[in-house]
Amino acid sequence: MPLSAPTLEELDLAGKRVLVRVDFNVPRDENGAIRDDTRIRAALPTLRAILEAGGRPICLTHLGRPGGEVREELRVDAVGERLAELSGTVVVKLDESFGEAVQQGIAQAPPGSIVLLENVRFNPGETRGDPELAARYAELGDLFVNDAFGSSHRPHASVSGIAAYLPSAAGRLLQSEIEAFARVLDNPDRPLLAILGGAKVSDKLQVIDNLIERVDALLVGGGMAYTFLAAQGHGIGASLFEEERVEVCRQALEKAEQRGVELLLPLDHVIAERCAEDAPTRTSGLEIPEGQMALDIGPRTRALFAERIAGVATLVWNGPMGVFEMEPFRSGTLAVARAVAACPGYTVVGGGDSVAAVQEFGLAEKVSHVSTGGGASLELLEGKELPGIACLGRV
Ligand code: ADP
Ligand code: MG
Repeated sequence: MPLSAPTLEELDLAGKRVLVRVDFNVPRDENGAIRDDTRIRAALPTLRAILEAGGRPICLTHLGRPGGEVREELRVDAVGERLAELSGTVVVKLDESFGEAVQQGIAQAPPGSIVLLENVRFNPGETRGDPELAARYAELGDLFVNDAFGSSHRPHASVSGIAAYLPSAAGRLLQSEIEAFARVLDNPDRPLLAILGGAKVSDKLQVIDNLIERVDALLVGGGMAYTFLAAQGHGIGASLFEEERVEVCRQALEKAEQRGVELLLPLDHVIAERCAEDAPTRTSGLEIPEGQMALDIGPRTRALFAERIAGVATLVWNGPMGVFEMEPFRSGTLAVARAVAACPGYTVVGGGDSVAAVQEFGLAEKVSHVSTGGGASLELLEGKELPGIACLGRV
């Protein structure tokens, strides 16, 4: 199934009440103040497009994990205030997310304003994907737009339920994510390269399996590389190791070989006795000595990976090459990030930590697409259909 969804342009927005599922689940400090409003900014193109077309946007979002009950500290009032500042538009924040009072509040909202409903996870049926609840949301609008890419892998009532009742489409943010991953996963320009890293093989089993079927080459670094190296019979010392995944790694190596996919593992490593900022480090060759942990890829591997990255038409990167959070083990991830930034092909980075790394290095602008959803992007790379995308445009 190719990855696609109807877009805003396919909806007749003029005069319509448009329910928009956004992801305003912003990081907050201990006092509940917003620490980072990137997610609010990310929804502005969609909200502006709806307003410009004469539509009346009504936003639904979750915030935190209230677990199906009202939690005062998780009300979305502060989010609404920030949305008003950023959009320069009146925001009418309502204290519930469905029902008669909400319908009235929407009817009374001034033209050109944005309505923001209360935290949808106050409703017990939200995370269960309750169709009754989705129907109650649907009563509030004429159209539905999903723009919450970061939640689109969750079959929740406000994410994938409303489209059963209303004509629907992807918002601008979701559309840009869909286009980026489609460019990697469906008919990519070749050669197509995937770079995989991160902590564990077990977190990425399906990603590995799915990508081997699609890519021309696969670079593996990070903690997961050592179970692969162990599967090849190499000494990995005290590096991260998942014994119960050795067989899966063997199968992946075999599958890559059968399909003519070049699978490259680290040739050298940055090693230390412990994983700490102040741990003395050394570079080792392929074999890792007893008692030593490999915590980053070594200089030869960095050069090899950078050289491969330079020559591809399309690439996708998920997972850091080492423990990049600590200064002594960040060179590998930095080298890969620089190579990705310099790559003239189409480049996509997805995954919570990999995206954080690219942003921290100040290189996000040089990547063709930096995904806004860690879990959702991982599921796309696993080859899964996301409920928040699959539901769109069906009525
Ligand atoms: P993403 O969020 O991009 O999908 P993951 O969550 O899979 O990435 O992995 C990120 C984590 O992997 C980081 O916290 C990093 O410290 C850890 N990691 C990377 N390389 C190693 C390694 N060699 N040993 C232990 N942990 C590692
Ligand atoms: Mg992560």
